[in-house]
Amino acid sequence: MAQGEFYQQRAGERAGRPTSRRRPDAGVYHLIIRLPRAARVRVGRLGLFTFPAGWYVYTGSAMNGLRARIARHRRRRKKLHWHIDYLLRRAEIVEVIEVPTRRRVECARHRHVLRLPGAQVPAPGFGSSDCRCISHLAYFARRPQL
Ligand SMILES: [Zn+2]
Repeated sequence: MAQGEFYQQRAGERAGRPTSRRRPDAGVYHLIIRLPRAARVRVGRLGLFTFPAGWYVYTGSAMNGLRARIARHRRRRKKLHWHIDYLLRRAEIVEVIEVPTRRRVECARHRHVLRLPGAQVPAPGFGSSDCRCISHLAYFARRPQL
């Protein structure tokens, strides 16, 4: 990806701040997630997995309503729909990194996450039903620097 084609906003503590109208309400995001203790979680039809305690990075995209999608991820009570919904019942979103863009860079961004030191794939197929990636969830024993 060419430099400067999109930018990141760290939205962790600043969530809820008004965003510029010029930014597209579309794009890719990473959820930085902490799981305080190991959990056995049934992830819909994907199956039952044991997730070790630690840090997870989930990469998703919302080409039609990025802000609403992130607000939904942060909501505790909701109907379980995406794979990530099942994990988030046990885990906490610590930070959200938004990449406003109309380009479809979700898979490329997640490949970048999987190249970070210590990255593992805890649940093959997680979040990647619609693409060829092994998964859109990465596990790290320590908090990764994205
Ligand atoms: Zn993918």
